[in-house]
Amino acid sequence: MVHETDVTVIGAGMSGVSTAYHLAEGGVDDVVLLEKDGPASKASGRAAGSISGDFFNEYSVGTDIIDYSFEFYRELEAMSDKLDLHSRRGYTMSHTAEGREILGELHLRSSSATEMLSPDELEEREPHLETEGVTAILAFEEAPRVDPYTATTELLSVATDRGVEFRTEEVADVSKESGEFVVETDAETYRSETVVNTAGVWARVIANMVGVDFPFSARPSEAIVMRTEEDLDFPEYNCPDIELYGHKEPNGDIFVGKAGHRHIRDLEAFSTDAEESTLQYVAKHVHQVSEKLTNAEVVNHWGERCQATPDRHPLLGETEVDGFYLICGLNGTGIMHGPFYGRVIADLVRGEDPEETFDVPLDFFDPHRFADADEEDFEIKNAIDW
Ligand SMILES: Cc1cc2nc3c(=O)[nH]c(=O)nc-3n(C[C@H](O)[C@H](O)[C@H](O)COP(=O)(O)OP(=O)(O)OC[C@H]3O[C@@H](n4cnc5c(N)ncnc54)[C@H](O)[C@@H]3O)c2cc1C
Repeated sequence: MVHETDVTVIGAGMSGVSTAYHLAEGGVDDVVLLEKDGPASKASGRAAGSISGDFFNEYSVGTDIIDYSFEFYRELEAMSDKLDLHSRRGYTMSHTAEGREILGELHLRSSSATEMLSPDELEEREPHLETEGVTAILAFEEAPRVDPYTATTELLSVATDRGVEFRTEEVADVSKESGEFVVETDAETYRSETVVNTAGVWARVIANMVGVDFPFSARPSEAIVMRTEEDLDFPEYNCPDIELYGHKEPNGDIFVGKAGHRHIRDLEAFSTDAEESTLQYVAKHVHQVSEKLTNAEVVNHWGERCQATPDRHPLLGETEVDGFYLICGLNGTGIMHGPFYGRVIADLVRGEDPEETFDVPLDFFDPHRFADADEEDFEIKNAIDW
């Protein structure tokens, strides 16, 4: 069967759901959102859920990216009886001299209320965090989080209430005929003038179907959940020099995240268990976060594919194929910034200029900024790297 739609969105993680929602909210009537598995079945359902973008991101600091997404989650929380925004104190900590310099610069540019602390001051405030070896600390009064699966699926529910048609179908081919895209799934055919590609780590596969290419890869991001006998008073923490970050879960468990630096060459063969080497790394280094975690029980662990680009930043906008839009390369920031990126793309599709409404450096996200699309072996940089 052939369906005529205004916009076809491919992939129902946070970026696709946000795009579909904002299109419907902006008055686009026929929006179809296609997802090969369940909504939030990939990275968007397995993230840490930090939405405190100021924590480490140099490009989003001082723009509307963080504030828009944060307010958006607040509004979504008000509309939902399942979603809760958790906010605790947060700290980015350096363990090297270079890290201390970078934290000092971030402090000067940061838009949220932050202060630099000495290790002694941190110890006084956070007796459960390890301060030995820490060279500097940037403190955030608020480090908000959401459960990413609940946030994405609750937003989907609001989007479908606004008229978005959600379908569980796998896109097998996209082509362009007489100015219209033809999207073939395993079940149906969709014809529309506009396609938004939000297929996560599969975004390049989808783009290649219409002849669009860019350097793109996937890297692992892993999570280890630990349980201690004592209920720890634990803030959100981010330690780029020792490559660990995390928070306290609502049930008291401690989330320890480790972002990987290797290319995942075979997306389908990826195991969603944490790798043995990561479990060992965390066992060896977690005392640098907190001595209290040294003998904690590991109660859960998983891994997922995260999107990577050569400069670690997203690709956002219309491609050289008219009407074919892209949100990808979200690295470790798709939950915190996904609401905003969906709004930006919805505005572009509707013929509006997001730069007139928002303080956002669109050139920075230009999907054409890489000259060499064949570059396969770029160095993987995580969102939390300095
Ligand atoms: C352990 C971990 C911790 C993280 N922590 C954070 C964090 O604290 N804060 C943060 O902001 N980000 C974090 N991230 C990153 C975040 O999860 C991603 O940036 C974000 O979820 C990407 O959203 P997305 O919608 O672009 O992609 P995805 O969530 O991957 O969604 C893409 C969707 O497209 C679908 N799809 C692909 N191909 C097709 C096809 N052919 N047909 C139909 N559908 C298709 C997929 O099934 C998938 O559901 C973390 C990630 C991990 C793994």
